Amino acid sequence: HATKKKMADHLRKYEALFTLTPQRMRIVVEAFKESLELGLAKHGQVVPMIPTYVFGWPTGQETGSYLAVDLGGTNLRVCLVTLQGDGKFEITQSKYRLTEEQKQEDGQILFDFCAECLKAFIDSNIESGVIEKDQVLPLGFTFSYPCAQERIDHGVLIRWTKGFGSPNTEGHDVVAMFRKSLAKHSVPAEVVALTCDTTGTLIASHYVNPKTRIACIFGTGCNAAYMERAGDIPKIQELGIDPNAEIAINCEWGAFDSFEHENLPRTKYDIIIDETSNKPGEQAFEKLISGRYLGEILRLIICELIDEGVLFLGQNTYKVEIAYSFDTAFLSLMESDPTDELLMIIGIFSHFFALETTLAERQFFRALAKLVARRAARLSACGIAAIVSKMNYLEDGCAVGADGSLYNKYPGFAERIHEGLQDIFGEKGKTIVTYHAEDGSGIGSAIVAAMTKARR
Ligand code: ADP
Repeated sequence: HATKKKMADHLRKYEALFTLTPQRMRIVVEAFKESLELGLAKHGQVVPMIPTYVFGWPTGQETGSYLAVDLGGTNLRVCLVTLQGDGKFEITQSKYRLTEEQKQEDGQILFDFCAECLKAFIDSNIESGVIEKDQVLPLGFTFSYPCAQERIDHGVLIRWTKGFGSPNTEGHDVVAMFRKSLAKHSVPAEVVALTCDTTGTLIASHYVNPKTRIACIFGTGCNAAYMERAGDIPKIQELGIDPNAEIAINCEWGAFDSFEHENLPRTKYDIIIDETSNKPGEQAFEKLISGRYLGEILRLIICELIDEGVLFLGQNTYKVEIAYSFDTAFLSLMESDPTDELLMIIGIFSHFFALETTLAERQFFRALAKLVARRAARLSACGIAAIVSKMNYLEDGCAVGADGSLYNKYPGFAERIHEGLQDIFGEKGKTIVTYHAEDGSGIGSAIVAAMTKARR
C-alpha cells in the first residue's frame, strides 16, 4: 500500500505538468494563427507556409491511369493509380526497401534506382496487360523533403531530412534529376507534378470526401496542409496569380514556436529532448507531438524517477536508460492493455528492458502514457483550430483528413483531438471532424498529376 500511495502522489505532479486547460489552449491557438499569417506574409518565417502550386480542389471527376513514385523515409513505393471519377479509384503498388547505404549514395544513383524499380514495375504491368505497350503514362512524384518550388514540376531540394544524406542533391532540381534517370533507363513515364505527402493527403481526401478542408500527418513527424486564396498570400503577389485562385499551402507547422519558445507549454523533459536533438531549437511543435518523441518523453520521466530512487531499486536499468529506446508504439500498447493485472505492460518492461514492475507502477506508467499522448492530441487540436479559425471554417463545419501511425494506431488519439476542439470552440467544435485519410502519397500524387494535365 505504501508504494501505491507514493506512485499516486508522483502522478499528481505530472498531471499538473502535462494538463492543458481550455483557456491555455485558446492562447496557443491565437499565437498559432499569428504565425500562420506571418508565414503567408513574408518569406523565411518560422512557419514557412509553402505554396505548392497545386491550384484548387479536384473535381472528383478526374479519370485515367497515372503512375506515382513515393521516395519515403523507409521505402520506395511505386504505384499505378486508375482514377475512375465519382471519387473512386483503383491502386496497385510495389514497395522496395531502401538501404542505409542508398540513402547516402550520390543523388543521381539514388534516382537511377527509383527509375529502375519503376521500369520493373511497368514491365510487369505490361506483361499482365494492365499497361499497354508503348503507352507513356503521366507520373506524380511524391518527395516529402523541403523543396523550393517555382512551379508544379520543379523543386530544388533545400536540405535532406529523415536520415538521407545523398551528395549532389541539395541545391538541385530533383524533378530534373529524376527525369534524367528515367531517360537513361528509357522508362515510359512523364513526370508532371512534384508533391509532398501532406499536400497529397489533402487532395486525395477531398477527392473522396469533398467536405475536407484540411489534411494533417501524425507520424514520425507532424504537418498540415490546407487551401488558401492566392490574394491572401502577400509573399507571392509579384507572381501575378489571379487573387481569387486557390492554392494548396504546405504549412510545415511542426516548426511552430521554434527558436523563441514563447507559446508552447514545454516541460523540462521537452527541453532535454530539444537540447540533445540534432537540431536544437527547431521543430518545436513537432517535438511535443509526433511519434518520434512521445516515447522518449515518457522514458525521460522514468529515468528521472530512477535517479530519485523511486523506481526499479536494485534492478539493472541500463536498457531503459538508452536514449530513444522507448518506442511510441509501447505507449499505444500500454493504454490498450485490457487486463486487470496489466499483463501487456509486464511484457514490455520484462521483454524489452529486463525490468520487473509492480501493479502500482504499471498503473502509473499507463496513466503517464495517457498524459503524454493526451497533451499531444490537444496541441494537435490547437493547430487544427488555428487553421479553422483563420479560414472561418467553424460556421459550416469541415472534415480533416489525417494520416500517420500515431493518428491511425494510437487508441483514442482522434477522440482526444475532437475533445480538444470542443474545449477550444465549445459546442461548435463538434462540426470539425477528423477522419482517416486516403493514401496521399499514392492516390493524392496521381490526382495532382491528373489536375496538372487538365490545366495544360
Ligand atoms: P512515417 O511518418 O515515417 O511515414 P508512420 O506514419 O508509420 O511513418 O509513423 C512512424 C511513427 O509512428 C514512429 O515514430 C513510431 O514510433 C510511431 N508508431 C508506430 N506504431 C505506432 C503505434 N502503434 N502507436 C503509436 N505510434 C506508433
